[in-house]
Amino acid sequence: MEIKIGAHVSISGGFIKALDREEKLGGNCGQVFVHSPRVWKFGKLSEKEARNFREEYNKRGWGPILVHSNYLINLATPKPDLFKRSVETLKEELRRAKMLGMEYVVFHPGSHTGSGEEKGIQSIIQGLNMVKEVIDDNTKLLLENTAGKGTSLGKNVDQLSQMFEKSKLTFDEAGVCIDTCHAFSAGYNIHTEKGLDDFVEEFDSKIGWDNVKAIHLNDSKYSQGSEKDEHAHIGEGKIGEQGMENIVNHPRIKEKPLILETPVDKEKGYRENIEKVADLMKN
Ligand SMILES: [Zn+2]
Ligand SMILES: [Zn+2]
Repeated sequence: MEIKIGAHVSISGGFIKALDREEKLGGNCGQVFVHSPRVWKFGKLSEKEARNFREEYNKRGWGPILVHSNYLINLATPKPDLFKRSVETLKEELRRAKMLGMEYVVFHPGSHTGSGEEKGIQSIIQGLNMVKEVIDDNTKLLLENTAGKGTSLGKNVDQLSQMFEKSKLTFDEAGVCIDTCHAFSAGYNIHTEKGLDDFVEEFDSKIGWDNVKAIHLNDSKYSQGSEKDEHAHIGEGKIGEQGMENIVNHPRIKEKPLILETPVDKEKGYRENIEKVADLMKN
């Protein structure tokens, strides 16, 4: 089985550059933003530019590519203006991903910021129903599990499964991206063999493992249950070397596209982390 692995790369200089960056890292799948993650506005994307990208992407013959959603989007917000803007932005990201032939848009379900879990989840479900109209077979929406920081929702399997059960989205239209750092920070002991098996099992029984379309493979700077969202180099965080070895060798995990969002600093970048994963897989 060929492992699919890649990283979140920049689109600076154009989308095709992102393909080159991915290959340079030794990647064969990946992730990009389609606009700046901390501003609402979008740059221009012509049909011609999109077509050129699609052709080039098809030629390379690898994938998938995920579009990571903007960080400002919050479908759980009680503020009507922010909710509306979030829905519109997520729709536009889906449209752009479709134009570019990218397979998934992944987003964090949102934070209720004080309105409570139940209302927050209701709001997310309403938002999902509104973006449904721009989803088609080629580009699906992925919900990402969160670390549970503050009032963020989607930190456990039950919350995610509610979002699917109660929204009108089908599993042909949507799925999940599991972030290993977030799951660990949210309290799952996925660094142990037993904990990891239990987690996969719970996911499979409540959402269906087939509906997990990608893994954000990250170590965590903070301890299990810390609810903090800070990624660490593979094997150097609190999940640790043994924990990451268990994760990358788990047959149900390594069958998914593995996408790194590890830090890029003076000592290490994605390339070193991708090599580290390859080393751990040999053990
Ligand atoms: Zn992630
Ligand atoms: Zn994160």
